[in-house]
Amino acid sequence: MTLHFRDIVAPAVDARRFRMFIDGAWVNASDGAVNERRSPAHDVPVTLVPRGTAADADRAVAAARAAFDDGRWSGLSGEARARVLLDAARIVRERLEEIALVETLETGKPITQSRGEVGGAAGIFEYAAGQARALHGDSFNNLGDEMLGLVTREPIGVVGVITPWNFPFFILCERVPFILAAGCTVVVKPSELTSASTLLLADVLAAAGLPAGVFNVVTGPGAVVGRRLAEHDDVDMISFTGSTDVGRGTLAASAGNMKKVGLELGGKNPQVVFADADLDAAADGVVFGLVFNAGQCCVSGSRLVVERSIADAFAARVVEKIGRLRIGDPLDEATQVGAIVDERQHTRILALIDEGKRDGARLLCGGEAFETSRGRFIQPTVFAGADRGMSIAQEEIFGPVLTILPFDGLADAIRIANDTCFGLAGSIWTSDLNKALKTMRGLKAGRVWINCTIAGGPELPIGGFKQSGTGRETGAYGVEEYTEIKSTHIALG
Ligand code: NAD
Repeated sequence: MTLHFRDIVAPAVDARRFRMFIDGAWVNASDGAVNERRSPAHDVPVTLVPRGTAADADRAVAAARAAFDDGRWSGLSGEARARVLLDAARIVRERLEEIALVETLETGKPITQSRGEVGGAAGIFEYAAGQARALHGDSFNNLGDEMLGLVTREPIGVVGVITPWNFPFFILCERVPFILAAGCTVVVKPSELTSASTLLLADVLAAAGLPAGVFNVVTGPGAVVGRRLAEHDDVDMISFTGSTDVGRGTLAASAGNMKKVGLELGGKNPQVVFADADLDAAADGVVFGLVFNAGQCCVSGSRLVVERSIADAFAARVVEKIGRLRIGDPLDEATQVGAIVDERQHTRILALIDEGKRDGARLLCGGEAFETSRGRFIQPTVFAGADRGMSIAQEEIFGPVLTILPFDGLADAIRIANDTCFGLAGSIWTSDLNKALKTMRGLKAGRVWINCTIAGGPELPIGGFKQSGTGRETGAYGVEEYTEIKSTHIALG
C-alpha cells in the first residue's frame, strides 16, 4: 500500500494577535500573559492569544451576570433575538475564508473541511433564529372551572461554555446560537490550542448587534479559567465539551451552587457492517469515519464490528481505500487528512498503537508517524486480531486508528458494539431494513447512522449515553436545555 503523503511547506503568514472579549471590549489578560500557537502542520507561529486568569474569568462572569439581570437580551422578543442571530449567520458567511484559514492554521485540518464547518455553523445560526421564535410553554385548561395552569420557560441565566480543540468553531456554534436563542448570556472558555475562531465569533456577534456583556470570551488554561467558571456561584449552567475525565472533574467542581451541567464527552464508536451491506459504500464510510479530522473526532468510527464471514475481504477493501487518501499539507486544496493537533496527542496516539502491537494485535496498515521535516502526522492504522480487553478496543485513541472486531449474528454484533464505557454514536451498514432497525434499537448510543456515517444538521439533537455525557445540544431540545421551567397555578375564583 502506498500512502499519498504531500510534504509540508511553511506558509507565508504572520502570527495574528488577538485579545479577549469581555463586556463588549477587547482586552489583554490581567497579567499581560500571551500564548503563542504554532500550526501543528507547519510548525510556525500562527496566533498570539491572551493567557487569561481567574480574575479575567470573574470579570467576564460579572459582565454576563449584569447583562442577564438587567434584561438587555433576555427581555427582548424572540423575533428581536432572531434578527441578531440571522445577521450573525450572514456575517459568518461573509467572513468564511478568514475564519476557515484561522481554523486550519490552529488545528491542522484540511482547509476544505474548515470551509465546510464554517458554512455549516452559519446554517446553525439560521436554524437557531427560528428556535428563538418557536420557544414556548404550555397551558392546562383541565384543572376545573376555577383553576388555570401555565408552564412557562425562562432562560436559565449565565452559561459557561467550555469547548475542545477538535472542531473549535463548529462545536461552539452547536451551542452558542441556542443559548442566545433561549435568552441567556454567555462566557466561553475555548481550548488554549485553538482559541482564535472563538474570538472571531465575538467580533461577528458584536457586528450583528448583540448587546455588550451578552457574549464574553476568556482564553487561557482549562485548569485555571475553565475551573473558575465551573466553581463560580454566578454561573447558572456549564456546557462542557471535551474528554470524559475532564468532564467528570468539571461536574464535581460545579456542585457548589448545584448549577446544571451539560456534558458532551468522548466516544469509542462502532461501525457495524453486515455481510449483506453495499460493501463498497460501507468501506468508504468506514474509511471516512476513521480519518475524518485525522481521527480526532468524538464520533470517529474507531471500531469496525464486522460479520466474520466477510471480515478479511472487507478489511482488505478498507486498507486499499486508505492507500488512495491524500494526506499532508492542510492548506493544499487536495488534502483529505491533515495533522495531529499537538505533540502530546501525537505521542499518546503512537503509545496506544505500540500498546496494540505489544498486546498481539496484527497491523494491517500504518502504525507509524510520517517522516516529515515539519509538523506531526500519523499514518491511518488498522489492527486485526484484537480482543475486547485490549486498550485499542476500549480507549478513545483520538487518532486515525481502527480496531477490527468480528461478530457472529445480530445479537453478537449488538453485544460487541455496546462493549465499552462510552455511548456516543454508531453506524450500521446493511441492506436489510429490519436488521438495521433492530440493531439501532440495541445500540446504547445517542446518535445512530444507518448506511451513512457522521451525518449531521441542527434539526436532530446530539448527546451521549453512558460515559459519553448528559443532556442534548441542537434541535428544539438544544434550546430547551438552556431554559428553566416554571409552573403557575392561577385561581380564577
Ligand atoms: P479536554 O477535556 O482536554 O479539554 C476540553 C476543554 O476543557 C478545554 O477547553 C480545556 O482547556 C478545558 N479544561 C481542561 N481542564 C479543565 C478543568 N480542570 N476545568 C475546566 N475545564 C478544563 O478535551 P480536548 O482534548 O480539548 O478534546 C478532545 C476530547 O473532547 C475528546 O475526548 C472528544 O471525544 C471530546 N469531544 C466530545 C464531543 C461531543 O460532542 N461529545 C465533541 C468534540 C470533542
